[in-house]
Amino acid sequence: MFLAQRRLCSLGSRTEFLKTIYSSKLLGFSTSAKMSLKFINAKRIEGLDRNVWIEFTKLAADPSVVNLGQGLPDISPPSYVKEELSKVALINSLNQYTRGFGHPPLVKALSCLYEKFYQKEINPNKEILVTVGAYGSLFNAIQGLIDEGDEVIITIPFYDCYEPMVRMAGATPVFIPLRSKPVDGKKWSSSDWTLDPQELESKFNSKTKAIILNTPHNPIGKVYTKEELQVIADLCIKYDTLCISDEVYEWLVYTGNKHLKIATFPGMWERTVTIGSAGKTFSVTGWKLGWTIGPNHLIKHLQTVQQNTVYTCATPLQEALAQALWIDIKRMDDPECYFNSLPKELEVKRDRMVRLLESVGLKPIVPDGGYFIIADVSLLDADLSDMKNDEPYDYKFVKWMTKNKKDSTLDAAEEIIKAWSKPKS
Ligand code: PMP
Repeated sequence: MFLAQRRLCSLGSRTEFLKTIYSSKLLGFSTSAKMSLKFINAKRIEGLDRNVWIEFTKLAADPSVVNLGQGLPDISPPSYVKEELSKVALINSLNQYTRGFGHPPLVKALSCLYEKFYQKEINPNKEILVTVGAYGSLFNAIQGLIDEGDEVIITIPFYDCYEPMVRMAGATPVFIPLRSKPVDGKKWSSSDWTLDPQELESKFNSKTKAIILNTPHNPIGKVYTKEELQVIADLCIKYDTLCISDEVYEWLVYTGNKHLKIATFPGMWERTVTIGSAGKTFSVTGWKLGWTIGPNHLIKHLQTVQQNTVYTCATPLQEALAQALWIDIKRMDDPECYFNSLPKELEVKRDRMVRLLESVGLKPIVPDGGYFIIADVSLLDADLSDMKNDEPYDYKFVKWMTKNKKDSTLDAAEEIIKAWSKPKS
């Protein structure tokens, strides 16, 4: 009985809960009166309780661990962005609710910013939805457009919330891996990772409702080329499929690469919703503001989800974001514009990190965009025999790395990273 209650307290899964009740009955305990069946989780979240961020952020809470995994910038956001927020707090009306689908000055600024890239007018009220971060955009899009029984194509590796969000909508994720060609001796680049067009086509069928595209890609750092996006666009059109395009790293593109929007390909605007994030745009991940842009016949369904869930996003943040965007919209061609200066600043850090990883025997995939670097750790030949066996190798390796600080190579790496992440005096 004690065990049974313990399990209940730990909010185990529906199946585990039912097993507990069943076995406790067999043992003759009258626990069912205490353990109401109403405590069971909803089926839609069954099996989705594990979360990589929660698990590894806890591990990284040890002050001797440097957390380079989560993607919170250690650089300060531009000063004008912070100043705009502090000004807004003093204006009474801006501390109250605003329009649910997006604060008017913000949707106006976003339409002005993006019209240049889409080369078409974007209706700020009908074709833009401001959300609680890109997470909110993904949630609204998936809940608003995906049904039970639908299939949604997701490329591996993928940003972790795509799969649970698709499952919560009752749909089935269909996975397709990015595969790397051999690079023998050359530097390994994110552009070596590609989708095989035939393999991709084999994932489409009459049940396919959408594909989730992520460019620049988290975590590989791949920036899809025009030809690659054309293959995806052709398949979306051929199989009458939607595209949910997660472009939160749109400004973080390194020398020699160009971010392209699949929504601008012929025939794609009407079937694409494109997602952006203030967190990534201005290095303010804590603001949790995002947006979705697309045709009104799709955006209106996302608006329905939003009006029945969070309803509206924080007014002061939206106003400050609008004002900050105007500053950069007016100097888009200037190297000082944050959209141009941030990738330059991060590219130097990328190159430094690549050298560091190589120096400790890892084989990094040099990203063309985004915040992250993936590295092949097999050369370190870590002894993971003590680690839990049912976990994937990368999970085990990272746990091993946070625990095994005696390893001299990793110690050295850690020291370098620590020195690097100390604030400059
Ligand atoms: N998509 C991707 C690919 C991301 O990397 C992130 C954040 N790390 C998000 C969506 C969520 O962004 P936000 O913080 O704006 O919700």
